[in-house]
Amino acid sequence: MTVPNAACKPSHKPPRVIISAMAAFQRIVILTGAGLSAESGLSTFRDKDGIWAKHRIEDVATPQAFARDPEAVLDFYNSRRGKARGVKPNAAHQALARLEAEFAGTVLTVTQNIDPLHERAGTKNLIHMHGEILQALCAHCGAREPWEKDLSLDLVCGACRQGGGMCPDVVWFGEMPYRMEEIIAALAACDLFLSIGTSGSVYPAASFVAQARGAGAHTVELNLEPSEGISMFAEAVHGKASQVVPAYVETLLNG
Ligand SMILES: [Zn+2]
Repeated sequence: MTVPNAACKPSHKPPRVIISAMAAFQRIVILTGAGLSAESGLSTFRDKDGIWAKHRIEDVATPQAFARDPEAVLDFYNSRRGKARGVKPNAAHQALARLEAEFAGTVLTVTQNIDPLHERAGTKNLIHMHGEILQALCAHCGAREPWEKDLSLDLVCGACRQGGGMCPDVVWFGEMPYRMEEIIAALAACDLFLSIGTSGSVYPAASFVAQARGAGAHTVELNLEPSEGISMFAEAVHGKASQVVPAYVETLLNG
């Protein structure tokens, strides 16, 4: 069995695929990223043609950018929101919803994606650690509400009646992701950790595999190609999410 040592430096040599003893698992934590939504037509962020190749993070995705040029930030997220409105979950999202519904133990899905595809597929035990594009957050009072239209500076918050503070409910660079205490507790208690469609380059999500390993969990990467954190995983399956995720879920459920 080729289980790399946690302390070893990352290498880009993928570990050999291991078919695990699936029946032993009770508590699964799944981390998902942009690679999962790419096949639903949403751009990834860090690929060479991704969103961050066309926009500078510091211009559109930081609290400082919103303070400096709120209209540019709102325009950027209005465009993202427009794309998210009509998207449909793909076979990978559907397979993960099926896993949650049919697995005898617990399944928690933690997504870095701000799109609504997991919930549209039927996943219920879900944490949007980077927020939700189809939700607005009032910077004045912290109220949240579902929001499918464009956001603009002249909007007034329905809760506190103040204007100018309606932001997309997303975690910007430099901000702490949502619900980290719950995520860390789930990682400490899990026995299977799946990392799906994520580049392994954005912290703190990139450190989840180490925390799951520390808890003694089996760790699996399902990704189009080996991620930056590949050496941390005990098992890896590489290919399109719409193919490898349903196949892996089928193995988990039916051996
Ligand atoms: Zn408010």
